[in-house]
Amino acid sequence: MKLVILDRDGVINFDSDQYIKSPAEWKPIPGSPEAIARLNQAGYRVVVATNQSGVGRGLFEMDTLNAIHDKMHKTVAAAGGRIDAVFYCPHAADAGCDCRKPQPGMFERIAACYNTDLAGVPAVGDSLRDLQAAAATGARPMLVLTGKGVKTQHDPAVPAGTLVFSDLAAAVDYILRAA
Ligand SMILES: [Mg+2]
Ligand SMILES: [Zn+2]
Repeated sequence: MKLVILDRDGVINFDSDQYIKSPAEWKPIPGSPEAIARLNQAGYRVVVATNQSGVGRGLFEMDTLNAIHDKMHKTVAAAGGRIDAVFYCPHAADAGCDCRKPQPGMFERIAACYNTDLAGVPAVGDSLRDLQAAAATGARPMLVLTGKGVKTQHDPAVPAGTLVFSDLAAAVDYILRAA
């Protein structure tokens, strides 16, 4: 099946070191909602896999996370696109869960949910842990230079074969050209 996995902060919306704690703080990166719509128009399902340890750390409630995602869905819908599902890890970094990236749990859940293998599935992120979770499950890691991407780019631990793009719109151009 045609599936693309996206990280959220630093890929779809601007990231913040202070966490995105309210819908007002969630601001789309120009071109990202439209890029998701272009994937949909080409027959791709788009899912989000995002670490949201701010929940586990008590910085914001689940209600707030849902409200933030509501805004994301509406913003993408206004551009003519659709995010099929949002997978999130709400756990704190020290909780030892299997879903916080770089752990592969969220990606494995996506594979189970869509009853598909992730081999070659484009997975776009701005942090090393996004790329590592992708590589661990056979997905195709793609780094964008938005968010933390510029810093991540020079990390020697970036998985071999990771493709690098200026932003999500450029990564989507590549995905659609390669398809
Ligand atoms: Mg990110
Ligand atoms: Zn988790």
